[in-house]
Amino acid sequence: MAEETTAAATGNPTVAERRARLVEVYREASVCTRCPLSKNRTKVVFGAGDADADLMFVGEAPGAEEDRRGLPFVGRAGVLLNELLAGIGLEREDVFIANTVLCRPPGNRDPMPAEIETCNPWLEQKIQLIEPVVIATLGNFATKLLTGNSTGITRVHGSPQVHELAGRPVFVMPLFHPAAALRTPALRETLAEDFATLAGLLSQRPPASEPEITVERTEEPTQLKFG
Ligand code: URA
Repeated sequence: MAEETTAAATGNPTVAERRARLVEVYREASVCTRCPLSKNRTKVVFGAGDADADLMFVGEAPGAEEDRRGLPFVGRAGVLLNELLAGIGLEREDVFIANTVLCRPPGNRDPMPAEIETCNPWLEQKIQLIEPVVIATLGNFATKLLTGNSTGITRVHGSPQVHELAGRPVFVMPLFHPAAALRTPALRETLAEDFATLAGLLSQRPPASEPEITVERTEEPTQLKFG
């Protein structure tokens, strides 16, 4: 009730309203035909997790297993992501996991710039509704998209940046993609170190350009499993 009163007073949507809207957006995205990737997909991979998560991950694109199940990071890279999360005391259900594009590129090729751009409004809506404090970008595609900078992941990983995304200041934390660590095992240690830095960010708030408005959180479950 306190959360609803505060939210009504500020004009901000409540957690329950944001969650309900996210479910609506999921339904709209499930039948998306905005780009040619929709022609070959089995299922849209909208993203999954806590609809009110402080920490959101953005990966590259669904692979074969994700396409089959309609869930992000459920293949080998997902197993490593789960382990890295466990290393900082979190589970998948505590975070929200999405990708730059909703649909699997054929043959697991890289998503094309036009596909990422066409899909971006779906990602922006998720960021707007989930209101994360930290967005961890997994690999070059997500990092370049959300930082607006073309510097490669090797140079920028592990150093948080502050960006205004969907109208709010957010920490963007570039990380190597877990698939890169599967190919190059030495990167596992780097990823684990960067995850430790990431964990430290969660107790902070990014500097706001405008006065911050506090919306108290309810204890209601907000975990969403789409697919
Ligand atoms: N790799 C990604 O970038 N996203 C997934 O969902 C799975 C693997």
